Parts: sequence; C-alpha cells; structure tokens
Amino acid sequence: MNFYQRYSRLGNQFCVIDTPMMARANQSSRPKLLLWNDKLTIERNIPLEKSSAHSYLSGQLPLPGVDAVALAYSGHQFGHFNPTLGDGRAHLIGSFDDAQGQAYDLQIKGSGATPFSRGGDGLCALGPAVREFVMSQALGALNVPTTECLAVVTTGQQVYRNESLPGAVVCRVASSHIRVGSFQYLALQEDLVGLKALMELAIKRYFSDINEQGDKRIVAFLRAVCKQQVALIVHWLRVGFIHGVMNTDNTLVGGETIDYGPCAMLEAFDFETVYSSIDKHGRYAFGQQPNIASWNCARLAESLIALFSVEESEAVAMLSEVIAQFSQDFNLAYQNMWAKKLGLLDWRDTDSALLSELLTILNSEQLDYTNTFAALSNSLLESPYSCFAIPDVLRSWYQKWQTRIAEYDSTKVVELMCSVNPAIIPRNALVEQVISDYYQHNDSRFLKDWLPLLQQPYRYQEYEQHYLAATMDTHYKTFCGT
Ligand code: AMP
Ligand code: MG
Repeated sequence: MNFYQRYSRLGNQFCVIDTPMMARANQSSRPKLLLWNDKLTIERNIPLEKSSAHSYLSGQLPLPGVDAVALAYSGHQFGHFNPTLGDGRAHLIGSFDDAQGQAYDLQIKGSGATPFSRGGDGLCALGPAVREFVMSQALGALNVPTTECLAVVTTGQQVYRNESLPGAVVCRVASSHIRVGSFQYLALQEDLVGLKALMELAIKRYFSDINEQGDKRIVAFLRAVCKQQVALIVHWLRVGFIHGVMNTDNTLVGGETIDYGPCAMLEAFDFETVYSSIDKHGRYAFGQQPNIASWNCARLAESLIALFSVEESEAVAMLSEVIAQFSQDFNLAYQNMWAKKLGLLDWRDTDSALLSELLTILNSEQLDYTNTFAALSNSLLESPYSCFAIPDVLRSWYQKWQTRIAEYDSTKVVELMCSVNPAIIPRNALVEQVISDYYQHNDSRFLKDWLPLLQQPYRYQEYEQHYLAATMDTHYKTFCGT
C-alpha cells in the first residue's frame, strides 16, 4: 500500500495530526463494512482490500506510514463569515496516486471529534452516510463532477440527534480537499507562504496548463476556478440537483460536488425550489446556484489579493475583471445546456421564446423536470417506451418543437438528447426509503435493485413507475448531516 500525506507542508495549523475516535484507547465497538464501492476501487486503483477495509475506513487503524489529519478552513456559511471551521467530524487518512499518477484523498467522516469540533460530537448517523453513498454515485453516473464514496462502515455505537441512531463513518475519495474556505483561512492568518503553496498545489492537480508567472498566474488560477464552477453548476441545473448548502467551505476549487448534506433533486419545475430546512430565505434555491457560485468565487478572489506584487487597488481591478467574466461564461454554457436538452444542434434567437414557453408551462403546471425532458427524448426513439408520456398540457408546445427540430438529422438529435436528459434520477422519496430500510432492518434490498439503475441513468428502457414517480411533496425537507 502506498499512501502519503500531501497537506503537511501547508503548515501545522492548517493540517493538524489527530487520532480518529476508533483508534483511541477504550474503544470496544466493532466497525463493520456496510456498503462498498467495488467499481471505484477498480477505477481508481485504490490499494485496499475489501476484507480489511473496515479497520482503516472506520479510523481504527492508520493507513501504513500515514498520520490522520484534520484540515483547517474558514467559511462563509449562509453569507456569514466563520473564521475557524475545519474538519470537525472528519479525518483525512491519506492520499494515493491512481494508475495515471493523479492524486486522490481518502477522507473519513463521522470518525470522532477533532480540534475543530467546536463542541460537536464529531459523529455521523447512518442515514446521512447512506445518503452520501447513494447520491454521490448517482451524480457521478449522471456525469456531474463529484467526490466519490468508497464505503460506509457502521461503528456499532449510537449517535444522538433528536433520537438515538446507529452511527457510521462514510469514506470519501476526492481529487483534493482544497476549498474556497481553505484559501480564506490562510489569507486570514496572513500566511502568504501557505497561501502560495496551496495555490500551487491546486494548479498542479487541476490546472497544470497554467504557464503564466507572477500576478498573471494568480489571475489565471482564479479564472480557471471560475470556469470549473460554471461547468459544475450547469451540470447541477441540467440534472436538477439542489446542493442545499453552498457555503464557501463546501466549494472545492477543483469544481467537484462535495458535502451531500441537505441535497435533493428537483421534481416539479421551479427555480425557487428549496428543500433544506435551514435555508429559510432560499439563499441556495435551485435557480440561485449560479449566483452563489459566482459569489463564492469572489470570496476566493479576495483571499488571493495578498499574493499580488502590485498595489491592492490594481489587484482588485484585475480580479474583478475575472469575476465579471463569470456571468458571461455562465450564460453561454447555460444556453448550450438548454440547446442540448432540447436537441437543438445550434441556437437561434427565436429559441429563447420556445424555451421560455416550455419552462413557463412546466412551472405553472408543476410538471416534473426530469420526466418531462425524458419524455421529449423518448418520444423521438424509434420504439418509444410507454413509461414516459408527454403531458397533455404540452401538446401544442410539442408541435412547435417538432417543427423546429425537423431541420436536423433525427438520429443526431435523439442521441444528443438521450445523453443529457436522464431517464432515471435518485428520487427524494426513494433515497428516504433506503435510509429508513437501513434504520429499520439494517439492510436495504431495494437499494440493491435500484443502485444498478442509477449507475446507468441515460439508459432508456421500460421502468416500473415507482422508480420514475415524483414525490410531489412540496413540503419535503432535508437536513444537514449533523
Ligand atoms: P457541513 O455542514 O457538513 O459542511 O459542516 C460545517 C462545519 O461543521 C464543518 O466544520 C464540520 O466539520 C462541522 N460539523 C458538522 N457536524 C459536526 C459534528 N457532528 N461534530 C463536529 N463538527 C461538525
Ligand atoms: Mg462541509
């Protein structure tokens, strides 16, 4: 096994060695592997055996030669700055390189209190761990950039929330844990050496084509991060993902989805949809996500100012230009997204009206986002499947759309649409069902049937209705994993 620690050179305060709870004295509980992602182990060439994984992934044993650490970070939570967050219930147990030499972190969450716990218990209940396992796999299969879940291990201990629940540790594989909040933390410490090193670490991992030097290098870095964020958010909007807690500490500069706390999938189409119980003012509503991503990038920009050699006002001007570019990049990518979802091989000015008419009907008729686009795609197949039906209220719009796409080669249109409009998504009610199965029977036979379907979400075939049905519960609420 070849594991290493790659954050230590960022300083003792940033990367604090800490022993996970299971490895501390007097621990009698027995961790058990509950869920294991075989595909990920093979894809990333992860040097772990399933039979012994529970010991390492619960934090009971350290990975050979590596000290577990908790990382420090700051963060804007719902717009309010918190200078000292950090891994309060997670340990980074080591990094490894895959077959292509790309670095990945293994992080375990729910592994006990750390110096950053701020009075929290450092634990995770089984439900949120299972949610992260299911949702991250589903999003990955939907081609949305994401951190991935290797395993869920039950700890054998109870966790107290509003009730006593079985505890678990979820193991996450991520190309890094470099957050906007990591930069905010080092900027706050006025640690310019650490800040520079962090930027270089991110450039090396994600943006190795950045050749600029000096101040231009910082500008190029911010620009690259903004582009990744634009790409990520467009994917979220394409599949109807609502993250729910887009704080700057939950924003990775590499542009992968992280932290599947209160996330959920959009059902009835409405840009204002919010499921998270703590998002009282809709800051992180479905349609707000692009604005928030841009806002988070502006917080990154602020953290980079100290690295410039020029006067602050000049640095601000250079960075502001990059932030201003965000919305232009987004608008273009967003238009492209709708073009693909509608099977338009090019975008004409008149297409905006066609799209807007469709979205207005979806919104006013409370039509399901996924099922509508799946039905449009399906209707173009040579032998359409009966489980997807075009709603009657769309009939007249459908005629206009048919006329518009008739200009193109139909094989190309259907191919394009079926590659961006999923047939099946992780329905909120079904995720809840899986979690409740685990709580009640410590088992989910349903998940065993469902997961393979979620792993091929663009497969158009006949599905049983319960896989496709929208919850349509406008009161559906999600909670942070705490
Ligand atoms: P999250 O909502 O998961 O992004 O967490 C926000 C912050 O709260 C992070 O610093 C977490 O480490 C911390 N945190 C969340 N839950 C707990 C917990 N049960 N114990 C200690 N810290 C926690
Ligand atoms: Mg977090």
